[in-house]
Amino acid sequence: MDFSLTDEQQQLRRTVREFAESEIAPHVMEWDEASQFPSEILPKLAELGLLGVIFPEKYGGAGLGYIEYALAIEELSRVDGSVGIIVAAHTSLCTNHIYKFGNEAQRLKYVVPLAQGEKLGCWSLTEPGAGSDAGGIRATAARAGDGWAINGSKTFTTNGHYADVCVAMALTDPAKARHGISAFIVEKGTPGFRPGKKENKLGMRASDTSEVIFSDCRVLADNLLGKQGEAFTNILQVLDGGRISIAAMALGMAQGAFDAATSYAKERKQFAKPIGEFQAIQFKLADMATEIAAARLLVYHAAWLADQSIAAGGSIRFTQESSMAKLHASEVGVRVANEAVQIFGGYGFIKDYPVEKYYRDAKLCTIGEGTSEIQRLVIARRVLGL
Ligand SMILES: Cc1cc2nc3c(=O)[nH]c(=O)nc-3n(C[C@H](O)[C@H](O)[C@H](O)COP(=O)(O)OP(=O)(O)OC[C@H]3O[C@@H](n4cnc5c(N)ncnc54)[C@H](O)[C@@H]3O)c2cc1C
Repeated sequence: MDFSLTDEQQQLRRTVREFAESEIAPHVMEWDEASQFPSEILPKLAELGLLGVIFPEKYGGAGLGYIEYALAIEELSRVDGSVGIIVAAHTSLCTNHIYKFGNEAQRLKYVVPLAQGEKLGCWSLTEPGAGSDAGGIRATAARAGDGWAINGSKTFTTNGHYADVCVAMALTDPAKARHGISAFIVEKGTPGFRPGKKENKLGMRASDTSEVIFSDCRVLADNLLGKQGEAFTNILQVLDGGRISIAAMALGMAQGAFDAATSYAKERKQFAKPIGEFQAIQFKLADMATEIAAARLLVYHAAWLADQSIAAGGSIRFTQESSMAKLHASEVGVRVANEAVQIFGGYGFIKDYPVEKYYRDAKLCTIGEGTSEIQRLVIARRVLGL
């Protein structure tokens, strides 16, 4: 077993870290307080190839793998989870769904500008009545002339207001329930397609989470993504990759909170000595470091398996590993951020210090792309062979 990163991977980590510290860190609290979507950062992310890390160069991507993708999301999220989730929803949900299940014309038309960062993507599955039970969606797409008419409302779509391209799931055969769900590519500006209410959130406030509304939205037959009625099966594979990005996001936030808490423990003095000299604080930091290291192994292992799967033409499934990485890393993110606030004491509770934001942001990782309970169901089914 070789646990080391290649020189190129280490270089990528350094580049993303420097970028995040110089271009993102100075604005983090301003964006968070105002719930301001960081549009100005997108061209810079595109320039670094960070909006298409996992796609081949032929389709506008950086031609790298999931390890590099996880490293990039981790480093962005170490500074700002909101930037992490914007990139993750764009890359491993929207663009990857089109890349994995689109035809060649769709790949050229949509994946290329998305991966190059000329366009931003979103992915609309969740509805007010269908979250964990994603197979229970109600949005419909009915035949209309040569194409389709989509009707329904989606909720919690990341990048909903800012995306140029939306991959949306709708029932084409309601009688077949989840086996009647199909995916469609809908472009911004298509009549009948509009973003709705923007959510006011606990954390990840600079990211946009919105309703997306379809009212008699007409798309061409060419906009059907994948085979009719097969979207539910495809979604499960898209989420296998997506969950690695949520895990990497949680890992980055845990690392950011840990770094801040470690520095603070060396500086802050009480009873005439740095609080890092108290064993109570030392044990917290030791547990945080150990949990982060364990989460990192799970995240990189799942990413490595995803890369092995791509190299093997998709024959290797990594559902269990990606769910385990997501479950563990997200819960570590919450625990580490909680302990970081505790180490900062009262200063951990105020916005002049960075840890309260990690505490708010990390929680999303136990919810998005399947809650911790749903990850446990996925893992249990594999473990029991159900
Ligand atoms: C900031 C943010 C961004 C998001 N981005 C996107 C996006 O880009 N695209 C998209 O489609 N969705 C997105 N989502 C939606 C997200 O994936 C869902 O919120 C999530 O899957 C949970 O669904 P729900 O909120 O309806 O909760 P529910 O499904 O109602 O769950 C409520 C509670 O019940 C538990 N529960 C439900 N079913 C079971 C079960 N069978 N066994 C045990 N416990 C169960 C859950 O674990 C949870 O604790 C986003 C959500 C947020 C908050």
